[in-house]
Amino acid sequence: MALLLLVEDDPTIGKVLESSLASAGHDVTWHDTGGAALDHAESRQVDLVLLDLGLPDMDGIDVCRRLRAVQPACVVVMLTARHEEMDVVVGLSAGADDYLTKPIRLGELLARVQAHLRRGGTGPATDNTLTIGALTVDTGRRRVTVGDHEVVLRTKEFDLLARLAAEPGVALSRQTLMADVWDAHWSGPTKTLDVHVAVLRRKLEAAADGTADPPRIVTLRGFGYRLD
Ligand code: CA
Repeated sequence: MALLLLVEDDPTIGKVLESSLASAGHDVTWHDTGGAALDHAESRQVDLVLLDLGLPDMDGIDVCRRLRAVQPACVVVMLTARHEEMDVVVGLSAGADDYLTKPIRLGELLARVQAHLRRGGTGPATDNTLTIGALTVDTGRRRVTVGDHEVVLRTKEFDLLARLAAEPGVALSRQTLMADVWDAHWSGPTKTLDVHVAVLRRKLEAAADGTADPPRIVTLRGFGYRLD
């Protein structure tokens, strides 16, 4: 089941889309402002967003850009009125994957959603999955779970965890981690690494909550980090 976020301020259109997508077997959350949608996306996994461009509180293009920042892996489909078609170009450059013009034809909408989800691989887990104890890192879908709990990570948090998980139990130097996750030619301060490790630890601990064999990121003083 895919996690869909519908952002639409027109109650009539919202109701129709919400019920059709739910009938097609999707888990749909509907918000009527950009602010509420972004709050939702900051704390929960989203596979696909249907985003109306004309929203009461924010420009849909800005919402798209900010959605992309917090949910880099999710698919964004913009819903536009015909007079907004010029915005489509801007929207696609702001990170949207596709657009549909209103009036929305439900059959087409459902078909496109299905096609995007298939491409995005929200079906069964791919074989790009690393499992270390209770931790699972699916690099294909960019999803992390500890036991039964999903861990929502930002782009670099995910990249860092995936790098550590690629060699569990191995001491990885700060230079290696900075080069592989941030910049191959990094030679400046590496404080950002410690900040990301601190956030990862907090999120992993919160998700572990009593799970047996939880993942631990061990600090190797003066050297780097290791994932146990
Ligand atoms: Ca609207």
